[in-house]
Formats: sequence, C-alpha cells, structure tokens
Amino acid sequence: MDEIIGHADVLRELRGLAESADPVHALLLAGPAGTGRTLLALEYARLLNCEARPGNGPGAAPGLFALEPSTSTAVPCGQCRSCRLIGEGVHPDVITLGPGDTLCKPRPNESGHERHPQSRDIRICQVRGLIDLVARYPFEARYRMIIIDPADRLGREAANTLLKTLEEPPGHTVIALVTEAPDSLIETVVSRCRRIDVRPVPRAEIESGLKRRGIEAVLASQVAGECHGRPGRAIDYARSPDLMGDRARLLERCRKIAAAKTSDRFTYAGELAERFRRDRTLVHAELNAWEAFWEEQLQLAARQRDGDVAGIVEALRAIVLVRADLMGQVMARPALELMLLSFPTLTLAEPVEEELATHA
Ligand SMILES: [Zn+2]
Ligand SMILES: [Zn+2]
Repeated sequence: MDEIIGHADVLRELRGLAESADPVHALLLAGPAGTGRTLLALEYARLLNCEARPGNGPGAAPGLFALEPSTSTAVPCGQCRSCRLIGEGVHPDVITLGPGDTLCKPRPNESGHERHPQSRDIRICQVRGLIDLVARYPFEARYRMIIIDPADRLGREAANTLLKTLEEPPGHTVIALVTEAPDSLIETVVSRCRRIDVRPVPRAEIESGLKRRGIEAVLASQVAGECHGRPGRAIDYARSPDLMGDRARLLERCRKIAAAKTSDRFTYAGELAERFRRDRTLVHAELNAWEAFWEEQLQLAARQRDGDVAGIVEALRAIVLVRADLMGQVMARPALELMLLSFPTLTLAEPVEEELATHA
C-alpha cells in the first residue's frame, strides 16, 4: 500500500484511536471522493491488525510490551502478513459493501429474491448479510473491517437495520462509513459513529507526495494543480494525462453554459440526460468537471470579495444531490434540469484568459 498523501492530522487521530484499549468500532469518513477516505479506513484496519502491534503478533506473549507503551516498532509495519494483505486489497476480513448485491441475504421465507448486481442502493438484504457476517469470528484478522461506501446509498430501512450493529458491534468488528454527503445520512447513524472529516489536501503536499511515488516533477506539479486537493484524482491524471485534456475541454463548456441563458441550460440538461441513458460514466465525468468549475469559481469569488459565494455553494450542493439522485431511481432529466437551474449565472466579467491559461 502506498503512503497516504496528506492528512497528517487524521492519521494521528486514527493512530490514537487504534492504540486505545477499546478501539472505536464505527467510523464515519466524510469528505469529497478522491481525497483518500478509503485509504484512511484501510490504514485504520492496518493499525489495528498489524502484527507488530503489541499483543497482536502470532505467539506474542501478553504483556510483553506492557512496560514500554510507546514501542519503537512502527505500526503499521507494512511488512507483516496482515499489512501486506490489506495493502494488496486481498485480506479476507476486509470487505467493502456498496450498491449491488455483496453480502445479499434474503429473508429465510423470502422466495424469489433475485440477485441484484446492478442495484444502485445498498439494500436491507445486504445489511442482513453484514449482521450475519459480523456475528461470526474473522478468518484471521483481529479486527474485521467492513467499509460501507458510499454510505449515503443506504436506504432508510437498511440504515435502521444497521443501527444496532453500529451501536454495539461485536468486539472483532470495525465498520467504516464513507460518504461525501454526511448530511444525507440519518442522524441516528451519524451519532453512533466517530466522525472524521477528510478535507482536500494542500497542493504542495500532493505535489511532494506524487514525487515521492516516483512521478516526474513537471507532471507532479501539473496534476497537483489540476486535482483540487484530491490526491486520488491527481494519481489518475498522472497515470493518464489525457484525462486532463478532456477536463480542460469540459471546463470550457461549463464556463459557456454557466454564462448562457436558461433555455440553453435546459437544452444542455436534455443532452446530458440522453447521454446518461447511453453511458453513465460520461455524465459522471461531466459532473466532476462542474464540481471543479464551481470550486474554482468559489476560490475566485472569495478572492474578489464581491462574488456570489452563497450561490456557488448552492451549486456545489446541487451537484452532490444530483449524483445521489442518479445513483437512485430518480428520473435523470428532471434531476439534471433542477441542478442546472440552481447554478448561478456567470457574468462575463470573469478573467477568462487568465483562467484558460492555467488549463492549457
Ligand atoms: Zn504490520
Ligand atoms: Zn438482496
């Protein structure tokens, strides 16, 4: 597993939580996609399970480290079996539960429960499977880790079914909820978790982190500037720089549409809905571009002090909402139209050349 880029404060917090005699069993990792939320959950799993952790190693004598609570052994060590399996994404006790039918467990008398690999929410049958799983001992880990991602896809009924397990998970279980929309989770779920906000990472940290991963300096600097604080996105760009070119084109289109009249926005929403029917991933790339566009406008507005900060924040919120809608059963076109309508209208006084230059 590569070193996590940024988030020194979160890592410190996780280390503290893992070192406690009774580690936290329910985490809520809230923040934008691509910032490293999942890696942080996995880091917690490694901290808890690393065999270099006092008392964790095979055959470790209990109390061996008791006299030196802050041992010199770095945890996670990255070398032991547990660290390696988690790093490679193949640990049998680290499970990701998302939309689809992972862990699906129909009710005993429920005949005709069909598999639903394409479902877009996390269903109650999957939560039932989770509860069933955590009642059993892990295969080999000291703490089994279940990552629910994205947690905002839990339906209300599924979320309610999860409550008791979140509140009193078996001692060998940690549940990590990952979401970019923590406000859309029901309060009873949120209140049972230790919430950790995963914020965008400063550009300089991303740049140096990429260089440490062997990415050439010019490219590292360029993608760090383009990724809006999201190391995951920076790594994608570094792997395929073409994505950035596509993004520059998308951003330019966003600019035109943001300055266009309402009827043009409706036309565009219709085109997006049509594209969504054919290829969802294209529309998600477009939503990412819109998000980057408004984030940029937000920085600009903050600098100029007279910008429409509230309007832009509303626009960013509308994007998160429409993403959730598109994952669910909502009709694409009205959802997209609503999003476009909640975008503020860009005035032409923007410094177009200067900004275009940064994306050239
Ligand atoms: Zn280890
Ligand atoms: Zn099912």
